[in-house]
Amino acid sequence: MGGGQAGLAVSYHLKQLGREHVIFEQAEKAGNAWRNDRWDSFTLVTPNWTIKLPGAEYDGNDPDGFLKKAEVVAYFEQYVEKFNLPVQFNTSVLEVAPLEDGKGYQVKTDGKTFQAKNVVMATGSFQKPKIPAFSADIQADISQLHSGQYRNPSQLPEGAVLVVGSAQSGMQIAEELYQSGRIVYLCTCSAPRVPRRYRGRDIFSWLLDTGFLEQTMDKLPSPKARLGGNPHLSGKKRRSLAELSSVCARRRKTSRSYGGRAKRKSYVLARLERNPCQSG
Ligand SMILES: Cc1cc2nc3c(=O)[nH]c(=O)nc-3n(C[C@H](O)[C@H](O)[C@H](O)COP(=O)(O)OP(=O)(O)OC[C@H]3O[C@@H](n4cnc5c(N)ncnc54)[C@H](O)[C@@H]3O)c2cc1C
Repeated sequence: MGGGQAGLAVSYHLKQLGREHVIFEQAEKAGNAWRNDRWDSFTLVTPNWTIKLPGAEYDGNDPDGFLKKAEVVAYFEQYVEKFNLPVQFNTSVLEVAPLEDGKGYQVKTDGKTFQAKNVVMATGSFQKPKIPAFSADIQADISQLHSGQYRNPSQLPEGAVLVVGSAQSGMQIAEELYQSGRIVYLCTCSAPRVPRRYRGRDIFSWLLDTGFLEQTMDKLPSPKARLGGNPHLSGKKRRSLAELSSVCARRRKTSRSYGGRAKRKSYVLARLERNPCQSG
């Protein structure tokens, strides 16, 4: 179930072993999460050298760069094509139930019903937006959007914008809105922070070398930790606002140098000292 990177990688290995299988993917094309749930200017925050789907490790000439949204989508499309993976698109799995004899599962889709000896759930962790309860109390004439629906600044009605959450999506969207000339209010959260580079190396090379990226669920302090906010980083090459200390620095600078041009200011609302890694 699910033709994202997890489902496709499983399919690759099953194919190598000659095991009969099919992937049910609800979307009409490969790369659904990246194609339909990311903003227009999206780039990966993980460097290109980390792209390692089995059989398709990154071999381009920019290993330290960051793929753009269209390039990520193309990578997944080409992956399905190159290995001729048996993805059945436009097929949503509605129900999976064990067979009475205990020797497999009945898989009900929005088309046919199938029987399978084994089922792999690869439906992802970011399929359902998490909307805070206070959203219901915000007056109706203030337009609200989840980050999965955000595409670009021109999509929002005129005026200031409050971005809620300062993990990867929140920081990058706040940055883009700020750069488009909006007044941006940012509610920070407890998402951890890491530097983009440390001692001349990208943070992901440290995370790999220290074994952090190899952690399995059973090694986490609790299953909830799996869904904690990721450190806010950006794949943009220029110096990015997507670091709280950088936002603070700019805010101070704007206040001092451009005091009269209040419209250009970005405001950091929450108490930054609550952010556990605040250093700026
Ligand atoms: C804003 C954002 C930025 C990110 N940036 C990065 C990054 O820079 N680098 C990185 O490595 N990771 C990044 N991630 C994380 C990355 O998106 C996930 O780790 C990755 O997509 C997980 O792959 P997956 O195959 O488990 O799930 P998904 O990619 O979510 O794939 C699941 C698939 O299952 C399908 N599906 C779901 N339910 C059903 C159903 N009932 N029937 C049929 N099909 C179904 C969905 O349509 C989807 O195609 C980011 C995530 C977000 C939200």
